[in-house]
Amino acid sequence: MEKYILTLDQGTTSSRAIVFDQESNIISLAQKEFTQVYPEAGFVEHDPNEIWESQLAVAREALSSKGLTPENIHGIGITNQRETTVVWDRNTGEPIYNAIVWQCRRTSDYCDSLIESGLSDLIRSKTGLVIDPYFSGTKLRWILENVEGAREKAEKGELLFGTIDTWLIWKLTSGLIHVTDYSNASRTMMFNIHELKWDEEILEILNIPRSMLPEVKPSSYVYGETDPSLFGAPIKIAGVAGDQQAALFGQTCFKSGEVKSTYGTGLFMLQNTGDAPVESKNGLITTIAWGIPEKYSETDSKDWKPDGMNDSGTEDKPERKLSNLFGLIKPRKTSREEKIKVTYAIEGSVFICGAVIQWLRDELGLLEKSSDSEEMARSVDDTNGVYIVPAFVGLGAPHWDPHTKGTMFGLTRGANKNHIVRAALESMAYQCHDLLEAMSSDFGKYPEALMVDGGASANDFLMQFQSDILGVEVVRPASVETTSLGAAYLAGLATGYWRDLADIDDNWKEGARFVPHMDKENKAKRLAGWRDAVSRTLGWDK
Ligand code: ADP
Repeated sequence: MEKYILTLDQGTTSSRAIVFDQESNIISLAQKEFTQVYPEAGFVEHDPNEIWESQLAVAREALSSKGLTPENIHGIGITNQRETTVVWDRNTGEPIYNAIVWQCRRTSDYCDSLIESGLSDLIRSKTGLVIDPYFSGTKLRWILENVEGAREKAEKGELLFGTIDTWLIWKLTSGLIHVTDYSNASRTMMFNIHELKWDEEILEILNIPRSMLPEVKPSSYVYGETDPSLFGAPIKIAGVAGDQQAALFGQTCFKSGEVKSTYGTGLFMLQNTGDAPVESKNGLITTIAWGIPEKYSETDSKDWKPDGMNDSGTEDKPERKLSNLFGLIKPRKTSREEKIKVTYAIEGSVFICGAVIQWLRDELGLLEKSSDSEEMARSVDDTNGVYIVPAFVGLGAPHWDPHTKGTMFGLTRGANKNHIVRAALESMAYQCHDLLEAMSSDFGKYPEALMVDGGASANDFLMQFQSDILGVEVVRPASVETTSLGAAYLAGLATGYWRDLADIDDNWKEGARFVPHMDKENKAKRLAGWRDAVSRTLGWDK
């Protein structure tokens, strides 16, 4: 019987399920959008039950549309929108409030008060993060403070907290398992990334009862099995990582110094810094990339075969199903679990990346489809001196100016829409350049190559310009589904579908490589223009 890995990719706007084979090919994919709730300006929520129902529906659809059954699935990997916070009743399983989404700014004032109390250094040194409403801790506190009866119930141990991975696993196991992984825990602003445990001092500051928090497990680990009633038979849940960390893993950036950049609505760059957390001096954050059994970094088992499968990838013998009445399986006690290796990353994010193209499309009507931008940019030799700084919501890393707005410079009577589209694409590459400069300065050296993914990485003009401006090779994998693939790899390692990191590396396929060829003077001139545009943009709206 053919065996596959099923990934649940629970994103900010949609729930997706993808089935991968051992060569990382997509066998099946299903996707469903769900409701965004905006109760007031700056507030963003999701209904946790709708998240769960949409996720379950797409998982079932991904299987049934290809005639697959739970017996075809070696394990489930989960990757999720990070930081988004759910609190539910341990006894009834009902959320006591909507999920507060990572984008939600409702705890800004409280965060300001923490900063004014001088807690920034303490939080940064323990969690690697800056104090910001983005992270889960203050969102959880908000629920306890603002939902009637919540604090009292929490003190009695009746409430549970989770990021989306935790919520999904709890639902998948019908309330038996309350866990998260290192990568997600490191986004809560409550987890000590050095001691690898919930930080008592921070919990006290935020006034969060310890009993609400999930157990923190490796990112590649058999957490349990799905309740048999959900898919007709139990399936192992075996891998978890937050979306950006999963993408880093899916890009096979396993070595210290390797970097990936995801070009979506915004831009997220993560650099693997190995087993040492690197503290940023340039406005970036430090995070846990993943924690996995050390054994997977070793390549000692030459005769290894996927668990329960022969060389052709079909099953040797029926696997003994370890389900019991409760759908719970005890985590395997193998030597693979004994020594966990935690890998750290530095991370930077730019708020507006592909969204600048969306803006030109939807608000200015300059193009019909985002992908038209490539041909339009190629139709002109340069931007004719036009620069766009897409600071629509202020500027994130490394400039950090929440008060500015977007700008366009260098307009002349000869500037046409192709120049403007080209300037928008180039602004994405320049922002990525600034992030990589900051990161390389923190890390101590420039990377050999930049791995790319996300919707806008399909644009060859942009990728070539990116390589030219960075002066490094830009490498796009054959599969840009790196986020889901990363979660699949984490799960497949724990179930023995893949042997180790080297096995996964062998399996990785390059799609395209862009080599820098812009001359030095040209590069310096363009970057000088960009820097000038940014400096004139900073503080615009003060
Ligand atoms: P997200 O996951 O943030 O929704 P995606 O990874 O799906 O984003 O990428 C979508 C973004 O990429 C959109 O902002 C879109 O405008 C942009 N985009 C998609 N294709 C292209 C392209 N060929 N050239 C430039 N931008 C693109």
